[in-house]
Amino acid sequence: MKVSLASVSTLAVAALLAGCSTAYADEAPAAAAAAPAPAATAEAAQEPLTPAGAEAFVARAEKELEELSIEGSKAAWVNATYITLDTDYLAAKAGAEFTEAQVRLAGQAARYAEIEGLSYDTKRKLDFLRQGIVAPAPDLPGAADELSTLLTGMQSAYGKGQGTYQGKPTPGVELEALMGTVRDPKLLQEMWTSWHNNVGAPMRDDYTRFVQISNEGAKGLGYADTGALWRSAYDMPPAEFAALTDKLWSEVKPLYDQLHCYTRAELNEEYGDAVQPETGPIRADLLGNMWAQEWGPIYDIVAPEGAGDIGYDLTGLLKAKKYTPVQIVKTGEGFFSSLGFAPLPQTFWERSMITKPEDREVVCHASAWNIDNKDDLRIKMCTQVNATDFVTVHHELGHNYYQRAYNQQPFLYMNSANDGFHEAIGDTIALSVTPEYLAQVGLLDRNKIPSAEQDIGLLLNQAMDSVAFLPFGLLIDKWRWGVFDGSITPANYNQAWNDLRLQYQGIRPPVERTEQNFDPAAKYHIPGNTPYTRYFLARILQFQFYKAACEQAGWTGPLHRCSFYGNKEVGERLNRMLAMGASRPWPEALEAFTGTREMSGDAMLEYFRPLMTWLQQRNQGRKCGW
Ligand SMILES: [Zn+2]
Repeated sequence: MKVSLASVSTLAVAALLAGCSTAYADEAPAAAAAAPAPAATAEAAQEPLTPAGAEAFVARAEKELEELSIEGSKAAWVNATYITLDTDYLAAKAGAEFTEAQVRLAGQAARYAEIEGLSYDTKRKLDFLRQGIVAPAPDLPGAADELSTLLTGMQSAYGKGQGTYQGKPTPGVELEALMGTVRDPKLLQEMWTSWHNNVGAPMRDDYTRFVQISNEGAKGLGYADTGALWRSAYDMPPAEFAALTDKLWSEVKPLYDQLHCYTRAELNEEYGDAVQPETGPIRADLLGNMWAQEWGPIYDIVAPEGAGDIGYDLTGLLKAKKYTPVQIVKTGEGFFSSLGFAPLPQTFWERSMITKPEDREVVCHASAWNIDNKDDLRIKMCTQVNATDFVTVHHELGHNYYQRAYNQQPFLYMNSANDGFHEAIGDTIALSVTPEYLAQVGLLDRNKIPSAEQDIGLLLNQAMDSVAFLPFGLLIDKWRWGVFDGSITPANYNQAWNDLRLQYQGIRPPVERTEQNFDPAAKYHIPGNTPYTRYFLARILQFQFYKAACEQAGWTGPLHRCSFYGNKEVGERLNRMLAMGASRPWPEALEAFTGTREMSGDAMLEYFRPLMTWLQQRNQGRKCGW
């Protein structure tokens, strides 16, 4: 049950779509990720530099972006559901127009942002206009072109990148899959090393230059550096936000440490001391994933005997009841209807792409859309009748209901409270696909709900993905924040990366690395320049939302077994948060649903408590840590 779904959300892209995918899936769709800043920013706006002028500028900017976003969405939709040379052209053109407007308006917004006496909304919207660009170009001749060329070049190099498998050149997608299934440490080492050497190392100079230019651009917009620009999107001073992520990590780290300790012992048993010693860090290529970011693929190695079976087979149940893809989506809609949300509009059923058409090329990567920013909701999936897609449908619809809930907000507030929230909502709903829920919707016989003894397998399986991911989700931007603010210099880029991998994940590369290497760029989001902290936040928040919903529903059993299906009070409170969009600082949105203004890892700890106890017993007598 892998539900690591993700959206790309620069403001531009978020306005166009909430993109998701179903496996290893914080990979952004390639087209959406390429949003370099192509135009100069200096052109002055026509409104005077006064509070009233700023307000008028914001109103005009908002109207322009909204119109462009609708055109962009229509072009992107037809492109994603009917890929041809012509629709590629139309989508790229619409995307470039949106980005051009965004860059121009960001530069102008930076001037208005300095005016004294701005209203709350004007100030907030000016900030959003400035923060919409992930890689700003400075206002210098040729800088925007150079930045765009660097980013496009790195993304293209990554996309074409190859490692080797048994000496044969092999594309990244295939290597990623093989890392999950191959169990020969020599081959794992070959794939890991060739990928990191071939793809990462050649990008070092371009990345170094990219950091310089985008930092200058960030300064032009009024931020200390690009990392500070990214962190400024969290309604608090950038340094305070960095401290908040540290706090969250310190809360969940004890659980990660136990999982690390147990997994290391199982790997030691599987491979022996020469490959994986009993103590120290885990060898990075043994964890079933190119970046050791999610360990689900090696569940077979760590699964406890007798407790590995989760007790029911959702795919089998769906097939036995002869579910169709449309029925699965109807079931997902039913979840939200049971909470009191209005049914999806008729146009959703007419316009969505629920299954893969046979007569044309499409993008199967699952995503949720609101084309007109009002009620033209759609999903795009190549839905199969199986457990993974059953969960994915619930996740995607979470995006759609969020989009519809904030459709009364002004355009610049049509977004989640912070960029972790959109994904977290979908994942909260996905967590709710419990045996209890399956019984409630008639898929599982009530007398076949698995007993509590079978929970350890279920929880361990989940933890191998969601708990294992946490330190990785955090350290990618720890590294980039340091690179952007200069505390990590080009002379120690790789050392700093591997130090963070050791410090947070407790892993080490399978072979020695030097500054000839550039391992960070072997992960898509570095050349793709997609901020990553949102994925860390989403993993934490989804449990917090889930716990709040379960408490409101009066659930008294173990948290991981809860279902809040059918509870109108939960729906009402959830809607209160969703309807706020990005109009208020995120702690207020969080409070509207959960009653607290603090993000916290406690709910995640509670969810996994039975597993924590079990891991501590298994780890007794072991020297945990690294
Ligand atoms: Zn998603």
